[in-house]
Amino acid sequence: MDRKKTVAFHTLGCKLNYSETSTLGRMLENEGFMQKDFGEQADVYVINTCSVTDNADKECRHLVRRIQRKAPESLVVVTGCYAQLKPKEIAAIPGVDLVLGAAEKFNIGRHLAELSKGDSAKISSCEIEEVSGFVPTWSAGGRTRSFLKVQDGCDYNCSFCTIPMARGRSRSDLIENVIRNVEELGASGVREIVLTGVNLGDFGKLDQYNGQKENFLMLITALDKIRSIDRFRISSIEPNLLTNEIIEFVGMSQRFMPHFHVPLQSGSNRILGMMRRRYKRELYAERVQLIRTIMPHASIGVDVIVGFPGETEVEFNETFNFLHELDVSYFHVFTYSERPNTHALSLGPVVPVGLRHERNKILRNLSYLKSNAFTARHEGQVRKVLFESSKPSGVMEGYTDNYIKVSTPYRQEWWNQLIDWTIR
Ligand code: SF4
Repeated sequence: MDRKKTVAFHTLGCKLNYSETSTLGRMLENEGFMQKDFGEQADVYVINTCSVTDNADKECRHLVRRIQRKAPESLVVVTGCYAQLKPKEIAAIPGVDLVLGAAEKFNIGRHLAELSKGDSAKISSCEIEEVSGFVPTWSAGGRTRSFLKVQDGCDYNCSFCTIPMARGRSRSDLIENVIRNVEELGASGVREIVLTGVNLGDFGKLDQYNGQKENFLMLITALDKIRSIDRFRISSIEPNLLTNEIIEFVGMSQRFMPHFHVPLQSGSNRILGMMRRRYKRELYAERVQLIRTIMPHASIGVDVIVGFPGETEVEFNETFNFLHELDVSYFHVFTYSERPNTHALSLGPVVPVGLRHERNKILRNLSYLKSNAFTARHEGQVRKVLFESSKPSGVMEGYTDNYIKVSTPYRQEWWNQLIDWTIR
């Protein structure tokens, strides 16, 4: 009998990439491959890259070198956002056999069937303007919580961002397809689904399916009726797309968790303008206020960028004070870094890198305090936790409905169960 071919994946970047890797893995399993850990020997190695990480190029080279040392005869495929943005640079890395752009990554099986270890890498990629298809993907690793992609691409043009160049125009799945995928996940034992996309609030915008007239509120209204899933979360939503109706709907829903992640990026209106964001700080504060009025217990996460070109001390302090005053629960703090072909490169004056890191640290400290205060506010309350870890040794972790992380020594009977938990 022929030995099964083996494939190992390595993912860089966001949850969207993880969900896509997961789907690529299932696709190749269906074509007869067996999955291995990246540290093991495999016939094919796939690196799913990110354009947002600072050292995409360095990381990719490092991984390819690692593979070459360990398995010089194995095939090396590089895909993902960085592969779409810089296919030639990646193809020039010694050891790379195939570079797959945004449109081609889900045809990986066909490409592998035609590939053999050769001298020069093959590139299969097209201009990002031509990418229009939508492929739903989901992560299914732990069988507890799954990240389901329902939207891809972005039509905004934030001046610091390369994602639209790497992922193309905004497009999404149809609600009937999402329902089918959610039901399938529910039947497989998944209890919680995190709806994922690049610009999730834009769901349903593109008439890819001719005359599509769906939107995000319609999506969550439909999903709320699916009984096999206990919990849904919205991974992240732009403040200008987070409507009163969506907030009110989540406030009434039993299945959509009281948890919002809303990018702010800056607390200075001038910087928001230079970033080409589509809201002002006042709108952001209103959104938070409405969430708090309807769901005092909701978790609210914030993305913020420090060191954007032209950000003065005064403007950074504006961001600090704005966040300090806002009743939010935690931040993800990003240090601005220059990206090729973005408008922000032409803006200035440039903030010295050391100062960017200092500002990052200041906001991370504030986030730490906010997050502790948020947990302390719920001390003594009993909330439902979905326990996730399936490792029979060590610690088991889970999240409350309002996204407080808890941990406890492993108890098999608690795995993938909603347990009443007293916050302490
Ligand atoms: S909304 Fe802005 S930051 Fe987010 S993906 Fe689109 S362009 Fe990038």
